[in-house]
Amino acid sequence: MPDRKVLTLWNEGTVNEEQTRILRKVSEDLPIPFDGQARKDLATLIEAFLQRDDALGLAAPQIGYNRRIVAFRNKNFDERDWSKRDKDFDVLINPRITQTRGEMETGEEGCLSCPEIKVEVARFPEIKVRAYDRAGRKISKRYEGFLARIVQHEIDHLEGKLIVDHEGTFYCPSNRLEFFEKLLRKGQ
Ligand SMILES: [Zn+2]
Repeated sequence: MPDRKVLTLWNEGTVNEEQTRILRKVSEDLPIPFDGQARKDLATLIEAFLQRDDALGLAAPQIGYNRRIVAFRNKNFDERDWSKRDKDFDVLINPRITQTRGEMETGEEGCLSCPEIKVEVARFPEIKVRAYDRAGRKISKRYEGFLARIVQHEIDHLEGKLIVDHEGTFYCPSNRLEFFEKLLRKGQ
């Protein structure tokens, strides 16, 4: 099966208006207990995530659904070829960050929806999240370090927020500098 298309804010120096509209929208909760459509959307997101060897995480709006579902690796972050067993990734439905700990730390992030760039983003080093799991059970989980960063990045997607909305320094190929400076640093 071909990879499911991941929406992007731009491509080759051109803004994607329609895809941006979906990526920028605040996503809706799934009904609990899940109905048929919710189960279908959940299966689609997991399948799309597992198809991408280059994804650390994927949020439903990235494949065109404004639904509050995220999937992300919980280990093997540096491997392109990871095992993809059920226990190697987490799926959170309707996630809410209920607690943060520590001073925010800056780190470089990329995103499949923001091709060609990396942005320095400040995140909390430890968070507690309340959500539902794949089976629709209520869960509460604590994430630390790089994993906490991934979870905050994915939850941002559900709010229509992307790495380009963070204030930090960005890195892009030099031949696109003009495009990105105009796009990301408006008003400066
Ligand atoms: Zn992303």
